[in-house]
Parts: sequence; structure tokens; C-alpha cells
Amino acid sequence: MQADMKKFILPVCGALILGVVIFAVVFFGGSDVSKDIFAMDTYVNIRVKGRNAQKSADIIETLVNNLDKDVLSRQSKDSYIYQLNSENGGKSAKNMSAYFGMLFEIAQKSNGKFDFTLGALSDLWGFGKNPAVPDKKEIETVLSKCGWEKVTIEHQQISFPEGLKLDLGAAGKGIALDEIKTYLESTKIREAVISLGGSILLYGKRDYTVGIANPENSSTNFAVLTLPASCVSTSGNYERFFEEDGKRYHHILDPETGYPVDNGIVSVTVVSQNGTFSDILSTACFAMGLEDGMALAKEYNCGIVVITEGKKVYVSDDLKDSIEIRDGSYTIVE
Ligand code: ADP
Ligand code: MG
Repeated sequence: MQADMKKFILPVCGALILGVVIFAVVFFGGSDVSKDIFAMDTYVNIRVKGRNAQKSADIIETLVNNLDKDVLSRQSKDSYIYQLNSENGGKSAKNMSAYFGMLFEIAQKSNGKFDFTLGALSDLWGFGKNPAVPDKKEIETVLSKCGWEKVTIEHQQISFPEGLKLDLGAAGKGIALDEIKTYLESTKIREAVISLGGSILLYGKRDYTVGIANPENSSTNFAVLTLPASCVSTSGNYERFFEEDGKRYHHILDPETGYPVDNGIVSVTVVSQNGTFSDILSTACFAMGLEDGMALAKEYNCGIVVITEGKKVYVSDDLKDSIEIRDGSYTIVE
């Protein structure tokens, strides 16, 4: 008897639940999917809303993994960048032409403070593996082999001298955001938030609230920005660092000295319509310093928030109404 009741109740409950789900799907025009993965050496969160959201989230996951493994990674032996680095170029820039264009442009505009050829220098510092302060002589030797001006692209062919290693670490997450945005535009997805470590894509016709990490405790926010669809990237000296003899060494390097940038900046957040620019500019403006960095962001019509030592915050005019400080120990400098 009980078994019979179960046979009855289960299908009825099932039909009811299904009915509610179908109603919700029709009503909201699709489900809301959130997916966490680890890719590009960072935590990735994919949130998608709209028709076929699950399928789109899966496609975005594959897109990020493939871009990392096949194109951008300096470690994966099958990647485009790995092969370029092991053969000193010798490959076409074709699919990457537009991105290389941006990298060269910002390298030049930043007077070389942004340099996408510091791979060997980053390796010498051991970021990602066993970081340690290298010998000064070694830094000088490796530095003499770096330099974006040594890279040439002629008839779409890239070449550079032996010992130089391309490193697109400051652009990769932004490139991924742009590729994801292009994909989303081909779908019926209405809203999405894709977060790749410190770079975020806000997609859809609404305003979003985005936190900017508190440098003293990056699992909390020192401020939030309310923004329409855009890309937001943060570069901070608290993201990847080690300490030796009581001194902190972080992963954004000064191409002039070969040592971590030491200009009083703690973090830079850049808001742009373009993911690659937001990512590149956050590192470039960090390396350039407060005044030059803010001027460059303005030249590109990008919003910028800079935190300097002493918890001072500098905000571009276009973001002044969008920012809300959450930690009162930080003050905006007018
Ligand atoms: P991420 O995007 O990985 O969170 P950043 O935006 O701060 O970090 O970019 C730092 C990365 O950029 C480094 O890990 C390195 O790969 C690369 N890099 C370091 N110094 C420079 C520089 N001066 N110019 C361009 N790229 C740099
Ligand atoms: Mg970045």
C-alpha cells in the first residue's frame, strides 16, 4: 500500500516541480548558472543567465581552457606562445595580430614601462615556483636580453633574438574576456559576469556592483563600483609576492631596473569597454606611476582607481559617482 502511494506521490510531485521549473525558465527566459573552475593560473567564476545558460557556461569554460593551453600559456608545450619562445618567433601573428597591436601600442605609450618581453626576468625571480631575490649581475644579464623593441612583426611573421621570452601574463585574462564577449554576443544570453582572477567582464543591459579588493585582506573589498556593461581589471602588489629579509617583492617588474616596481602604488583598477585594454592598462599604469598612469588611462577614455601607500585613493572623474568606499581607513584624494 505504502509502495503504491509512493508510486502516485512521486510522479505528482515530480510533475509539480517540473511545472515550477518550466514556469521559471519561461518567466526568466533561461536559468541562472554559476560555475567555478581553475584556469590561467587563477580562480575563474562563470555566471550566465538566459536561454541555454548551462551550455553557454560549458562553452565559456572550454574557451578559457583552450585559450590558456593552446595559445597563451608559457608552460604548456603545445601553446602558441611556448612555441614562439622556443623558436625565437618564426610564426605568423595572424589570429593574434590585433592583440599584438595593443601590446606594442601600450609598450610604446608607457615608454617601455609596460613590456611584454619580460618572461626570462619573471622566471629568474621564480614567480609561480620558488621565488627568491636573484643575484644583481644575473638580473643585468637577463635584462639585457629583454625589450619589446627587439620584437619585429614583418609580413605577419614574428621574430626576436635568442634569450628573449614573450610573456602575455599582463594581457591574457583580458584577451579571454574579449573572446568570451564576442562569443556571448552570438548567443541569446542576456546577462553574464565572468571573473578571471583580477579581471571581470560585466555583460548585459543593467548595472552591476563590483568590489575592488582590499590590499590588506584581498578576500574583502575596500570599495565597490556600480557600473554598466564593461571590463574591470585590477593589478595589485598583494596578488603575487614573497618576502625575503623582511622586504616584500611582487610580480610587476620595472623593465629599467629588473626589480619589482617600487613607486608607492599598491593597486590599480581600470574600467574599459575592452577587456584587453583594461588588463594591459592596469599593469601598465601600475608600472608607470600615479601621474603618468592616470594620464594614460584618460587618453584611452578608461576609468581608473589607484591606491597608493598610506591608503590614499585616486579616482578618475568619470568614476567619482560610481565608487563607494567600504573601508573608512581609505580616503579619496580630491
Ligand atoms: P594578473 O593579471 O596576473 O593578476 P597583473 O595584471 O598584475 O596580474 O599582471 C602581472 C603580470 O604581468 C606578471 O605576472 C607578468 O606576467 C607580467 N608583467 C610583470 N611586469 C610587467 C611589465 N612591466 N610589463 C608587462 N607585463 C609585466
Ligand atoms: Mg591583469
